[in-house]
Amino acid sequence: MLKIEHLGIAVKSLDASVPLYEQLLNTPCYKQEGVASEGVSTAFFKTGDSKIELLEATSENSPIAKFIEKKGEGIHHIAFEVENIEAEMKRLSALGFQILNEHPKDGADNKLVCFLHPKSTNGVLVELCQEKK
Ligand code: ZN
Repeated sequence: MLKIEHLGIAVKSLDASVPLYEQLLNTPCYKQEGVASEGVSTAFFKTGDSKIELLEATSENSPIAKFIEKKGEGIHHIAFEVENIEAEMKRLSALGFQILNEHPKDGADNKLVCFLHPKSTNGVLVELCQEKK
């Protein structure tokens, strides 16, 4: 894995959280984008080499809505950048990690993504992401 690409933070409201994180990080949000398939709206911030992704649910069935219902707002996932997502999925699957999707899917911020079940990673939802070429 190349680096931690971003941390995903579940929030109730982007309208409320984007200005807060702009103040906290002292940098403007550079992109807001919906991912309809996941039922989320996202907002991205750059902090040096790393990014912060805020996630707001756009429907009650969104994984983010369920997460907030269970645990409240907070850190939702860690995303690692990989060079070849298909190869990493095969490698991790062979080692017994539970991968939540069979094929990489389109994520926010021009990425192909997949997720690892927190049960196989000590309770941490892990995202793998690869820059789309
Ligand atoms: Zn993410």
